[in-house]
Amino acid sequence: MEPAGIYLHLPFCASRCSYCAFTTFPDHEGTRDKYVESLAEEIRRVARHGRSMGGVTLPAQHGRRISTVYLGGGTPSLLTHAQMEHVLEAIHDHFILEEGVEVTLEANPETVTRQAASGWRTLGVNRVSLGAQSFRDSVLRALGRRHDGQRIGAALKEVRQAGIRQVSLDIIAGVQGDWLLDDLRQATGLEPDHLSMYLLELDEDEVGGVTSLARHVQLGRAHAPDEDWFAAVYPRAVEWLARAGLARYEISNFARPGCQSRHNLRYWRCQDVLGFGVAAHSLVAGERHGVTRDLSAYLAAARRGEEPPLERDLSGLEERTAEAWILGLRLDTGVSVDEVARRTGNRRALPPMNRLARVISAGLLVRQGDRLRLTSRGILLSNEVFQAFLP
Ligand code: SF4
Repeated sequence: MEPAGIYLHLPFCASRCSYCAFTTFPDHEGTRDKYVESLAEEIRRVARHGRSMGGVTLPAQHGRRISTVYLGGGTPSLLTHAQMEHVLEAIHDHFILEEGVEVTLEANPETVTRQAASGWRTLGVNRVSLGAQSFRDSVLRALGRRHDGQRIGAALKEVRQAGIRQVSLDIIAGVQGDWLLDDLRQATGLEPDHLSMYLLELDEDEVGGVTSLARHVQLGRAHAPDEDWFAAVYPRAVEWLARAGLARYEISNFARPGCQSRHNLRYWRCQDVLGFGVAAHSLVAGERHGVTRDLSAYLAAARRGEEPPLERDLSGLEERTAEAWILGLRLDTGVSVDEVARRTGNRRALPPMNRLARVISAGLLVRQGDRLRLTSRGILLSNEVFQAFLP
């Protein structure tokens, strides 16, 4: 069996950011303790018995080789050393972590201390993804972040001094004005190994509610992010990052050579990821499923010694093939017929050329042999190209 990745969802945050659309809950040490216990149990159960849902059984995963582990959230850096150790122990007990396994921890700058970072390193964390978002204090306040601009540099230094090799920064564009290039100038000054850059989204949150920032925009108290502005500034941002040694490898992601996020590459390449914890998604042997978003239901199932409620993705082969094309096209290398066929098991994974003619003639997509790739203009209008793949 191919090696897999492991995703752990740690859903607690000290407070909720105004733009947050993720499954998170107020941090409470007692609940966090119970959750960590349940998470370790979930890992052990899936390793020993696999999973059953909707008439489908996924095989036990014990002994599977693992090449990436990602602790995401929420704010996983709120975990105490003992809590993180407990969860990682469950992984070590049941899986074979490959030589050079990438272990990423998402951290908010205000949670980083030298002691915490040294502890993370001793537990095997070798990559920290810092939620910087912006270096401008007024923007950070509007986003409801708990750190200021200066804290980002200090946190990055602590991580490096603790001996953690790779650091990534997340930057959000389009909040209260045109600060992106200034933020990137400050970010690259810290010489991160990786950077993710997103335009602020005001989507519904994961449970169908509206984020508080979206409500402010609806009430005219804050500006909506401007997609046209972002399309105009994006090429300059890409150029700036390239000059700083961070080459684009995915629409929103940039890295020094050899520092791409190996875990996130799994998602774009539709490779197996075992997801654990509330709202965690998995892809195993072509089957996608997600764990309940309901924290009480998750904890109650763990108390009964049962697996948490699961939702199986019932998309058909045609939809999964379209998704594989769309995810693969997000990468600068593009994606080939062969790769899509392998990723979906669909031996007739040919691209829908009749629907693609328009985006190809508009110069948004190029075909080189059996490989398709977005052009620079296609990257700016990627949603239009992706639409053309939908069945
Ligand atoms: S730290 Fe991240 S997950 Fe937590 S509230 Fe803020 S945006 Fe949401």
